[in-house]
Amino acid sequence: MKYYSLNHNAAKVSFQEAVIQGLAADKGLYFPESITPLPKSFFDNIENLTNEEIAFEAIQQFVGDEIPASTLKQIISETLCFDFPVVPVENGIYSLELFHGPTMAFKDVGARFMSRCLGYFNKDKKDNTNTVLVATSGDTGGAVASGFLAVQGVEVVILYPSGKVSDIQERQLTTLGQNIKALEVDGVFDDCQDMVKKAFLDESLAHKNLTSANSINIARWLPQMFYFFFAYKALKSQGKELVFSCPSGNFGNICAGIIAKKMGLPVTHFVASTNVNDTVPRFLVDGKYDPKPSIATISNAMDVGNPSNFIRIQEMYGNDLEQFKKDFSSYTYNDEETLEALKNIYKTDGYIAEPHGAVGYLGLKKELENYPNAIGVFLETAHPIKFLDVVEPALGITLPIPTQIESVLNKEKVSTKIKTYDELKAFLG
Ligand SMILES: *Cc1c(COP(=O)(O)O)cnc(C)c1O
Repeated sequence: MKYYSLNHNAAKVSFQEAVIQGLAADKGLYFPESITPLPKSFFDNIENLTNEEIAFEAIQQFVGDEIPASTLKQIISETLCFDFPVVPVENGIYSLELFHGPTMAFKDVGARFMSRCLGYFNKDKKDNTNTVLVATSGDTGGAVASGFLAVQGVEVVILYPSGKVSDIQERQLTTLGQNIKALEVDGVFDDCQDMVKKAFLDESLAHKNLTSANSINIARWLPQMFYFFFAYKALKSQGKELVFSCPSGNFGNICAGIIAKKMGLPVTHFVASTNVNDTVPRFLVDGKYDPKPSIATISNAMDVGNPSNFIRIQEMYGNDLEQFKKDFSSYTYNDEETLEALKNIYKTDGYIAEPHGAVGYLGLKKELENYPNAIGVFLETAHPIKFLDVVEPALGITLPIPTQIESVLNKEKVSTKIKTYDELKAFLG
């Protein structure tokens, strides 16, 4: 499979090159040259397949022959080492729980898949390492640290804003050691992000083979399509139309869902539910794409003013805004509405959501007014424990600590404090 740059000013590359580079030379995002629908027999028979078999069928065309089938199956098996339950919440509404992985965030899937692809591509390069450089506002860092731990030929450097991530999140990214290094930046998330961007453009760091591990990287982004196939498998026997609502920040998740639909997955409608960072909902109203600086909210993993994957979604719909709107809606909710939903879901349904899932639930409820006979699924993208400072006071409960989290709580934090770009450069060497 070849990938082209969405800025259309760089050469086409292989899967391997796209994964290693992250971004194209012209700073464009990579996009697959073709998306081929899966055969009808695959969907007819999906309930008889394991998650690993489904994932292999779904991802194979995007990897092509660059990873042997047996290795790709092994990578998938290590990626999907946990469950993806579809939990009934209320009549016709389900939560697709994506948080049962090692760091209890859905990003575990993409991080594990990408790390193992890089590890495979590096297997024969004894002294040539890649450096994964990533800025995190919280959840990405932990998933990347865990996903890349001990992967051959890959060094990971994570920048996070000092004092701005939760205690659990900080421990998840500072306690693993080995090939994982944490830099504690005296500043806010945007400062971390700026330093990372500068490093990618810095010619004097070319020898470090820097790559990113956020959803601009195809190996982190594409495996997210698996979730939608798994949910279809679980709900297929009900014989109803399906509406998905994704709590959206960089729009990687929902974009992967739209690819699954292009591959033939019977999805009637997608909803991108956002917090007050509403660039896409505004676009759907007036057709103008007008990004704004991000605003801090209680669903902070979605505090994104200029969603990087939206351009990939636009690529799939060309300029056909009307067709796009048939398949896709986007709604925005503020923190007050999110808290209200969190409480209602608990009170009425006995289900403990967290702020991102609650935003997804709200968008789903709204869209189901247009599809009264459909089944609705919202993606629950993190375990409530990851946002306990919001969830516990809102619901008046104390959450038990899951084992995955407990295991990092008593480990010692190791980080290096930095303030300037020069300090980052000196650290990278
Ligand atoms: C990253 C993240 C999101 C947003 O996902 P995108 O693919 O960037 O839209 C939503 N919820 C949680 C908990 C996240 O960590």
